Amino acid sequence: MAHINEDFLKLPGAYLFSEIAQKVKAFKDEHPEADVISLGIGDVTQPLVPAVVEALHKATDELANGATFRGYGPERGYDFLRKAIVENDFQARGIKIDEDEVFVNDGAKSDTGNFQELLSKDVRIAVTDPIYPVYIDSNVMGGRTGVLSSNGHWSNVIYMPCCAENGFVPELPHSREKIDVIYLCYPNNPTGTTLSRKELQKWVHYALEHDALIFYDAAYEAYIQNDDIPHSIYEIEGAKRVAVEFHSFSKTAGFTGVRCGYTVVPKTVMAITKKGDRITLNPLWNRRQSTKFNGTSYLSQRAAEAIYTPEGKQQIRQTIDYYMENARRMREALTGIGFEIYGGTDAPYLWVRTPKGTTSWGFFDEMLHKAQVVCTPGVGFGPAGEGYVRLTAFGQHEATKQALERIKSQIAK
Ligand code: PLP
Repeated sequence: MAHINEDFLKLPGAYLFSEIAQKVKAFKDEHPEADVISLGIGDVTQPLVPAVVEALHKATDELANGATFRGYGPERGYDFLRKAIVENDFQARGIKIDEDEVFVNDGAKSDTGNFQELLSKDVRIAVTDPIYPVYIDSNVMGGRTGVLSSNGHWSNVIYMPCCAENGFVPELPHSREKIDVIYLCYPNNPTGTTLSRKELQKWVHYALEHDALIFYDAAYEAYIQNDDIPHSIYEIEGAKRVAVEFHSFSKTAGFTGVRCGYTVVPKTVMAITKKGDRITLNPLWNRRQSTKFNGTSYLSQRAAEAIYTPEGKQQIRQTIDYYMENARRMREALTGIGFEIYGGTDAPYLWVRTPKGTTSWGFFDEMLHKAQVVCTPGVGFGPAGEGYVRLTAFGQHEATKQALERIKSQIAK
């Protein structure tokens, strides 16, 4: 019989959001009359904008016609989309990225999870804590972690705690331990906090100095309101030598169901062989993608292209503003009743300190049972998330307003 890849068996049973869904289902089964409002999972609620819908209709008509039908597309993505990405997300910010450094994908989750495949099993990864779980879980699957200890840390992984006490800014590793890959996500999921240009500069310098790679997840960059916060790590000098950057249209334009994003792999980013030869990752990633991935649908890519038209830009901005108005109201209401709140100014997430003596899961239960509001326990994103919950601003205005009223009247502070 085939031997199993036992690295998969190391993973805890349920993905965080499945565990939450089970708890919510059990509550609803017991209380069928309850009107539960979710401020938990980070999915969007607003429909696709008209420019995107129009592009989808047009692309569907093309595929329905023998003269304009298209099958498999180019492996890195269609030129029209990569050109729009380069011009709008990089050139417009004074960053030079070539079109063959952009790889269109079916969303950032796949690539943030898959990119580690290019590296050897013995690379040491460093992650901020709390963290988007995919970075660690994919490395567990890849056999790059040791075992999960009772404190929630994996051995062989370097954790950089981010909490109120350090302003949610990860400290540069002090240990002499070698770090090969640093995962950074800004604006951050789950804390909703950001890194200033100066803080990000420190990381790029560290990576250059220590020959480390940075995997930079910019899935929420469209939510940045403050001009001092970089939208891309390539705004920092030297980053093109050390950083791979992941983007997603999911939260930028409501593509959680459409599926499209992209990864930037500059041709100057390298890793080393055992013999000491430096290898460029760009062609290797192209090789990996052309073997294991057959591209994002033509429909999704045309839809993504429409985000970059003048109408598309203006329409998605309105949707982002809609969510950020939720974030503003949530911050105001929760701060007003004495909660300690972080994030929510340049990101669609609020990181809420739980009342003294209440754990993340304890507060999750209290919110569900007393206010029928679903939040996400911070500890689900890593041990340093204990004592916090995450709320999302992706709800509809009316539901968010109701949730805030219930929290105000039902949750003791
Ligand atoms: N990266 C972060 C930090 C996320 O929070 C998410 C989704 O929630 C993703 C990546 C995945 O996004 P996508 O829908 O593009 O796969």
